[in-house]
Amino acid sequence: MTPINFTPQALTRWESVPGETRQRLLRNGWCVHCSKEVTITQVTGRIQRGDLVLTGQCNECQGEAGRVIEGGEGAQQHQSAAAFLAHALLATYRT
Ligand SMILES: [Zn+2]
Repeated sequence: MTPINFTPQALTRWESVPGETRQRLLRNGWCVHCSKEVTITQVTGRIQRGDLVLTGQCNECQGEAGRVIEGGEGAQQHQSAAAFLAHALLATYRT
């Protein structure tokens, strides 16, 4: 997968992840519509609160799906990756 729409910071973080792990992360994205793990396509990436946030399209419903790779100082405060991701996606719509 070639990152197409990553911020420079996000790209640096993404490239530090082993290739095999990247593929696994993209196959285990979370779709807020399907409420389950799905494969993400059309991925974009950015850093949000120190975490790498990947967003893209669910391969099942074509809705918005994503994956958070935690790494920020606030990571332990997240109740769950899914809840945080939903919040991150909503933040996307507001900006
Ligand atoms: Zn879906």
